[in-house]
Amino acid sequence: ATSNHKYVYGFAEGNKDLKDLLGGKGANLAEMTNLGLPVPPGFIITTEACKAYLATGAEPDGLAAQVATHLSALETAMGKRLGAPADPLLVSVRSGAKFSMPGMMETVLNVGLNDESVTGLANQASDGGPGSGDRFAWDSYRRLIQMFGKTVCDVPGEEFEHALDDAKRARGTTNDLDLDADDLRALVGAYKKIFAKHTGREFPQAPREQLDLAVRAVFESWNAERAVLYRRQERIPADLGTAVNIVAMVFGNLGPDSGTGVAFTRDPATGNQGIYGDYLANAQGEDVVAGIRNTIPLQELERIDKRSYDELLRIMATLEGHYRDLCDIEFTIERGKLWMLQTRVGKRTAAAAFNIANHLVDEGIIDLDEALHRVNGAQLAQLMFPRFDLSGSPEVVTTGVGASPGAAVGRVVFTSARAVELAGQGERVILVRRETNPDDLPGMIAAQGILTARGGKTSHAAVVARGMGKTCLCGADNLDVDVKAGRFTVGGHVVNEGDIVSIDGTSGCLYLGEVPVRPSEVVQYFEGSVDPTTSTDPLVVAVHRIIGHADGVRRLRVRTNADTGEDAARARRFGAEGIGLCRTEHMFLGDRRELVERLILARAETERNEALDALLPLQRADFVEIFREMDGLPVTVRLIDPPLHEFLPSLEELAVHVAVAQERGEDPGKDQALLAAVRRMHEQNPMLGLRGVRLGLVIPGLFAMQVRAITEAAAQLVAEGRDPRPEIMVPLVGAVQELETVRVEAEKIISEVTREHAVEVLIGTMIEVPRAALTAGQIAEAAEFFSFGTNDLTQMGWGFSRDDVEGAFFWRYLELGIFGISPFESLDRDGVGRLVRIAVDEGRAARPGLKIGVCGEHGGDPESVHFFHEVGLDYVSCSPFRVPVARLEAGRAVI
Ligand code: PEP
Ligand code: MG
Repeated sequence: ATSNHKYVYGFAEGNKDLKDLLGGKGANLAEMTNLGLPVPPGFIITTEACKAYLATGAEPDGLAAQVATHLSALETAMGKRLGAPADPLLVSVRSGAKFSMPGMMETVLNVGLNDESVTGLANQASDGGPGSGDRFAWDSYRRLIQMFGKTVCDVPGEEFEHALDDAKRARGTTNDLDLDADDLRALVGAYKKIFAKHTGREFPQAPREQLDLAVRAVFESWNAERAVLYRRQERIPADLGTAVNIVAMVFGNLGPDSGTGVAFTRDPATGNQGIYGDYLANAQGEDVVAGIRNTIPLQELERIDKRSYDELLRIMATLEGHYRDLCDIEFTIERGKLWMLQTRVGKRTAAAAFNIANHLVDEGIIDLDEALHRVNGAQLAQLMFPRFDLSGSPEVVTTGVGASPGAAVGRVVFTSARAVELAGQGERVILVRRETNPDDLPGMIAAQGILTARGGKTSHAAVVARGMGKTCLCGADNLDVDVKAGRFTVGGHVVNEGDIVSIDGTSGCLYLGEVPVRPSEVVQYFEGSVDPTTSTDPLVVAVHRIIGHADGVRRLRVRTNADTGEDAARARRFGAEGIGLCRTEHMFLGDRRELVERLILARAETERNEALDALLPLQRADFVEIFREMDGLPVTVRLIDPPLHEFLPSLEELAVHVAVAQERGEDPGKDQALLAAVRRMHEQNPMLGLRGVRLGLVIPGLFAMQVRAITEAAAQLVAEGRDPRPEIMVPLVGAVQELETVRVEAEKIISEVTREHAVEVLIGTMIEVPRAALTAGQIAEAAEFFSFGTNDLTQMGWGFSRDDVEGAFFWRYLELGIFGISPFESLDRDGVGRLVRIAVDEGRAARPGLKIGVCGEHGGDPESVHFFHEVGLDYVSCSPFRVPVARLEAGRAVI
C-alpha cells in the first residue's frame, strides 16, 4: 500500500454498507451520524490498516499522518485538544470487526488523561462546588492506567485489583464509591508504580503516544486467543481484521442526571414489539455490558429523565424504520444530554428471527424473499430442540432472565476448566458463574447451558450464549455462588458441584434435579400434529409461512437418508420428497447375522445359495415396508457397502476364544472355521479394501439377491395398485467397467421379475471415489443417476480416515486455521467441491438430463446446500431431522 492509501475515515465519510472496511460498529456510527442522530464525533481506522499491521508488525505508511489530520478535525469539532492540560479532549479507542465479537477484543477509555490533564478534567466535571470534579477525574485516570496497563502493556490485572482492595481496606470499606479524591489520587500513584515495575517504563504522558499504543493493542487483539476461538465457533473468517473507532468520550458517570444503557427495538428473545432494554444511572457503558451492577428496566428512565427517554424512543423508531429490522442500541446520557454510542441490526434468538421476519412481512416492511433471507437453517434447527415438560409441576427455585432459549439439564460446575473436563468425559454440564467473562468461553462451549447470578439480556453470558444457540439463564440474583466451596445456595437450597439442575432459557426458570423434556411445537408442526392454519402459536405460523415460501422458490429437491419404514414415514411428514439413500447394511445385522456368517463361510455354491435364499424374503419385506411409506416417490436403495468382516466377530476376541478352547483340550468346532475366515478377510485398510461394488463382484449372488429383493418388493406393490419408484445404487464405483458388470446381471434379474408387473427400476451409482468423479463422463454411460457420497469423497479426496481424524488431529488443524470447520461437516468447496463440479459437468455432457443428488452428511449442512444448489444438483438427501433445514436453505440459496 502506498502512503496515499486511505486508512482513516471520519464518521461523515462512512455508511452502513462499509462493514468490510470500517467494521460493524464504525459503519453504523457513520450511518447514524449521517442520519443526523446525536453521535459523539470520531473517526475510524480501517480493517485494511489492521491487516497491514498484522502482516508486517508495523503501522502502514501514511496511517500516522492521516490519524493526525482526523484528530485535529475532531479537536476542532469539540473545541478541545487531546489531553490538553486545562480543558482536555478524551477519546475512547474501541475495536469493531465486520462481525460482532462481543467482549473478545480490546477497548481503552479515557485516552488523553495524564498528570496534568486530570486537573482539567476535574474542572470539566465540576458542578461549581470547589473540588467537586476531583473524585471523578482521579477515578477516570486510575481507570485509564488500569485498562491501558492491562490491555496495551500486559500488566497482570490482579495487581491493580489488589491495590484497589488495599485502598478500600485502608478506608474500611468494600465499596469503590467510598473512596474519595485523595484516596484515588494515591491509588493513581500506586498504579503508576505497578505499571513501571511491569513495563520498565513510566506510564506514557504524551496523549498521542497513548492513542497510538492503544490503537496498536486493538489491532493485536484480533489475534488474542479468545478472539481466535470465538471466530472458529462462529465461523468468522480469520483474515478480516478489526477496525478501530476513536470517539470523543462522553460520560455517563457524572452524577444522577447521567447514565448509560442498552435498548432493543423489539424483544430479542421472542421478537415481540415493545420497549426492551436496561438502564444504569451514574455509570459507564462497560458497567452495563459486563453485567457487574444490576440494571433497571428501560421504561423507568421515563420517570428519571423524560426528555431523554422520549428522544430515545424517537431515535429507536427512526433506526428501526431505517434498517427495517430489529436494532440494538447503546447510549449514554451525560448530564441530561443523550448520546448514541452504537447501533446495529441486533442479534436475536432463533424464535425471534422467525417472528420478526413474519411481523415485518405483515407490516409490509419486507417481502417474503427478504423474510426468508433473514432466517437460516441453523436457527430452524434450534427451534426443533425439545422443551421442558412441566406437567409434573416441578418447583421453580428461582427465576432470572431467560436470555437464550432451550431446555438444558446437567451437572453443576463452577469453572470453565471443570466444564471442559466433565464434558470431555461425556457428562452434560451446566456452567454456573456469578457472571461470565471472555475467559469462560471454552466452558460455555462445553456446557449444555449457562446459569449466572448477575447481568441482564445484554450481559456477556447472554450475548455469547445467544450467538452460540446455547441455553442461558442469567441474572438469577437470588443465587449465592461460592466458586471456592464448589456450591451455590438459593432460597434455602444448597446445590453442590455435580448436582443436577434444569434451566429454562426461555422462561428464565431454574429447577433442581432433572425435569423431563418434550418436543418443540415446531417439530409437532412438522409432524403434522399442529395445524398451522388454526394454531395460535406465532412461531408455528411464522415457520409455516417462511418454509412454505422456501418450498415455493427452491429448485433443489430434498430427500432423506432412511433405512426403515419408520424413518421414511417421519421424513415424509417433514417434507422429504423421496429417499436419497437407503443403506442396506443394517438389514444384515441382528438375527440375520447368522445367515451372513453362513454366507461368508460357505464352501460350496449350494451352501451359499441356501444362505442367500434365506436372506431374500427378509430383504424383500424390508423394501416392501419402505416403498409403501414412500409410495409415489423415488427410493434409492444402495446395495451393500461395508466390508463383510464388519458382520463377523472381532479377530482378537475370536482368536482368544479358540485358543482358550484348545488349551482346555476342547474342540473349538465351528469357531475354528470362523476364525480362519475372519483371518482371511482381515484387512489393514478396510475402508480402502473389499467393500461396495468390489464385494458385489467377488461374492457371487450377493448383489443379485438384493436386486431381486428390491424388484420383487416393487412388483408386489404394483400388484397391490401402488406406485413404487425404486432406484438401485451401486456403491464405491471407481471405473465404468465395475458398474457395467453389475448392470448386466441386474438387468437380467429385473427383466425376469418384471415380466408380469411392469416396474421401472433405475440403476445408478454413487460418486464417492475420486476416480469416479474424474471419469464421470464414462461412468454416466452406464448410470441413470449419480449420487455423491461426499463422506467417502472427502475421506479419499483428502486422505483423511473418517473414523480417526476428528479426535486425532483435527483440533490442531482447526487451531492452525488450516480449515475453519471440519470438511466432513461442511463441504470443502475448493478441493472436494471441484471433484463434484467435474463429475456434474462431465456426467451431464455424456448423458444430458442425468439426475444427480448427494447423500453424504453434507446434504443437510446449510453451507453445503448452497454449494449443491450452485453446481446444479437435482436434490440433496439428509437425515430426517435435517429435512426442514435443507428445505429452508435450498430456498435461501435461490433468493
Ligand atoms: C458417503 O460416502 O458419503 C455415503 C453416503 O456413504 P457412507 O457414508 O455410507 O459411506
Ligand atoms: Mg460411502
